Amino acid sequence: MPDLTDVFAYLDSRQEDHLSRLFTYLRQPSISAHKNGVTETAELARGFLTEAGLNNARVVPTDGAPMVMAERLESPGTPTLLVYGHYDVQPPDPLDLWESPPFEPTIRDGRIYARGVGDNKGQHLAHILAAEALLAVRGELPCNVKFLLEGEEEIGSPQMPPFVAAHRDELKADLCVISDGTVDESGRACVRFGVRGVLSFELRAKGAKRDLHSGHWGDVAPNPIWQLVWLLSTMKGADGRVLVEGFYDDVEPQTDLEKQALVLMAGDEAAIKHELGIEAFAPHPGGGVAERRSAWPAFTINGLHGGYGGAGSKTVLPSEAFVKCDVRLVERQTADDVWRKLEAHVRKHAPTVEIRRQGSMDPSKTPLDSPFAAPIQRALALTEGEEPMLHPAMGGSLPEYAFTKTLGVPCFGVPFANPDEANHAPNENMEVERFFRGIKTAAAIMVEIGAHKA
Ligand SMILES: [Zn+2]
Repeated sequence: MPDLTDVFAYLDSRQEDHLSRLFTYLRQPSISAHKNGVTETAELARGFLTEAGLNNARVVPTDGAPMVMAERLESPGTPTLLVYGHYDVQPPDPLDLWESPPFEPTIRDGRIYARGVGDNKGQHLAHILAAEALLAVRGELPCNVKFLLEGEEEIGSPQMPPFVAAHRDELKADLCVISDGTVDESGRACVRFGVRGVLSFELRAKGAKRDLHSGHWGDVAPNPIWQLVWLLSTMKGADGRVLVEGFYDDVEPQTDLEKQALVLMAGDEAAIKHELGIEAFAPHPGGGVAERRSAWPAFTINGLHGGYGGAGSKTVLPSEAFVKCDVRLVERQTADDVWRKLEAHVRKHAPTVEIRRQGSMDPSKTPLDSPFAAPIQRALALTEGEEPMLHPAMGGSLPEYAFTKTLGVPCFGVPFANPDEANHAPNENMEVERFFRGIKTAAAIMVEIGAHKA
């Protein structure tokens, strides 16, 4: 275990300065959805990178919000770590539910309250401050480090995957680390090895050219809502199995390590049901909650719309109806391939129904026995005092495939925020101690990666 006493002592002595820089960052709004303050925040981030001693800190324009990049290449013989984060934040509304203003960071009960503190300014700033501390104490970084900070993560990262593809050489690395989201729900640190992908689509059915009287025309003119209901019933069985031909073909079987990790992640299912207010989980062909959220694709109807939904009754035969759906994808499904299968299914079962593709992201997964997993786990064990949990894949979606598939490097999620960080909600917060510990973990990761022999 490398000795980090000197670096940690330095970090302990700089806490006030680190908080004050975080507060400066947090006071600057950067709401990508409203294009508010994004350019100013990119400049601020560039300043932090320069101040930390990274080279060539730059704001790189894109068709949307700019990217912020910097690097420090110490030696060709050591691995290169790419740190990705995002400097944009969610809109803060509803404002009246905030106990202190969202862009005026405030400490209460050991937590920093501000929009973007955990999602994601505090988390990537921790990596920048870690690099700064290593340079201040030791004069060099233990491994090569590159930073990529984007400004449109909260609106779905439209620029990030094409930017990574176009800057493959500049971003060349041996691994990618992302600190975003929260530690395990138990409060214990975790390493996240993947994310599910997502594909959103809409089904549209049309009947007569106008709404009709159900007494005069019911069961004469086609009913678009029935058409959708019949179509949907061919897409998933009552046992929860998706019936779209070939849907599960590319689902990668779980490895033994993944199975073990999922067993350790299994929560109290009775408590989960109680918390959700449900009697039973949805029918499913697979396993428990952790396994379903990590290792299985999911097909969800997000909304079914058409006809009359107001008070009382209205004997109407509606002229159109639509349904919105999303499919969560797991390794090695791809959005393009699943889209082709859905299209073919609709053509076969309901040729008059229109299917429209919406946004998508491919899934991403790094093997649990990737060579860089052990050094990252050691870094977390050092600063947390216990082994981290291993999460094979998160249920939600992020464009990590840009790193694992486009750059071809393993990608590790190392979240620093508390489970109740309330990201995207009023009173977003991060425990002060977790921010400071995140800086130490980030430093330990660089040291462990530097000591790693390929
Ligand atoms: Zn977010």
